[in-house]
Amino acid sequence: MKRFENKVAIVTGGARGIGAAIAHRFGSEGAKVVVFDLDADAGMKRLEMLTSEGVEGIYVHGDVARELDVSRCVKTAVETFGRVDILVNNAGIGFSGKPLFEQKLEEWERVISVNLTGPYLFSKHAAKVMAGLGGGVIINIASTRALQSEPNTEPYSASKGGLLALTHSLAASLAKHRIRVVAVSPGWVDTSRWQIPPREPALTRLDHEQHLAGRVGKPEDIAALVAFLASDEASWITGVNFVVDGGMTVKMLYLDDAVVADAIVTLTGDSGFAELLRLALTADSGVRMKVKEIMGSLLKS
Ligand code: NAD
Repeated sequence: MKRFENKVAIVTGGARGIGAAIAHRFGSEGAKVVVFDLDADAGMKRLEMLTSEGVEGIYVHGDVARELDVSRCVKTAVETFGRVDILVNNAGIGFSGKPLFEQKLEEWERVISVNLTGPYLFSKHAAKVMAGLGGGVIINIASTRALQSEPNTEPYSASKGGLLALTHSLAASLAKHRIRVVAVSPGWVDTSRWQIPPREPALTRLDHEQHLAGRVGKPEDIAALVAFLASDEASWITGVNFVVDGGMTVKMLYLDDAVVADAIVTLTGDSGFAELLRLALTADSGVRMKVKEIMGSLLKS
């Protein structure tokens, strides 16, 4: 007996990327899968791929930020398969990192609409069905950017921070209907192989080795946790957030000599060069000036 046999899972943004890996994971474990996505071409292609693997599923076109599209998707799922047991609010859009003073209200509103209002609407409509069936699970795909930031990412970080708050708020409201609500916050996940058409990842050694786990994440890493959280084995877990990031958010990032030396070894593979540079950087100012002169003339030649 497969883990999700007789269960129906809706995955928003399930046509490509992390959502596609989640849809395949549920399908491979026996669930009937509803792929909801704004990109009709990718949605149809994803459905073909799922069907070719023997997964029973449908594709529903729509925008998570439009309530009519959301209610139509939940209605179609019930009409087609008779139930909804699992909802994964995965559809999301990024933000280009435009400086704060140049950001437009429309840009803020679109990111908040897709990344936060969408999960709110989908949860409301799907939970109504789940409540009538005696329970269910909602999993919100947030981001480590809900917890830490680079400059100029306000709309995205705020949308994902809001999603964590929405998660515990929904968990409290829906507990009486035996609906669990959990958030998963991925770190850096390379989705190349789950795009349509699939691409080869273009990652460097430094990209991988800066993670405590020694590599950038894959959509399958997220799908594995989502499947566990949706299963009965996770029946005591609700309202909380799980960070899956290869250790990036717990890593101290003070730039001391050892970190610089490690980065040089990673970049050049040359530990002798790293040691020389460390000695030069920590030497007295006369020696440092001399090293700078030599480096300057080396770079010119
Ligand atoms: P992706 O761009 O590869 O895929 C997103 C999918 O969502 C696409 O199929 C797209 O068409 C669909 N989509 C976008 N807007 C939509 C809308 N309004 N309505 C319906 N469908 C819509 O993205 P991804 O990298 O796989 O990210 C998936 C989720 O994971 C997002 O919520 C993202 O914020 C989050 N996340 C990703 C990473 C990462 O490194 N990839 C890290 C942290 C969090």
